[in-house]
Amino acid sequence: MDEHEPYCETTEIQAAGQEAQTPAEGPFAECVLCRAPTEYPETVKGAPLCPVCEWREAERTACSG
Ligand SMILES: [Zn+2]
Repeated sequence: MDEHEPYCETTEIQAAGQEAQTPAEGPFAECVLCRAPTEYPETVKGAPLCPVCEWREAERTACSG
């Protein structure tokens, strides 16, 4: 009987490629998931995520499929 554990590789999490594009001056947008302050300005487009949620989302999307 073979038992195959689902193996998930999270090799390509884009964390290193993100330079500081905007000056780190408040106010910051709230994370849409946990309402923690993100590193994005309030004027950011879309749904900003805090670093923690961003990392989790990246891991989830990397695992899905
Ligand atoms: Zn969050």
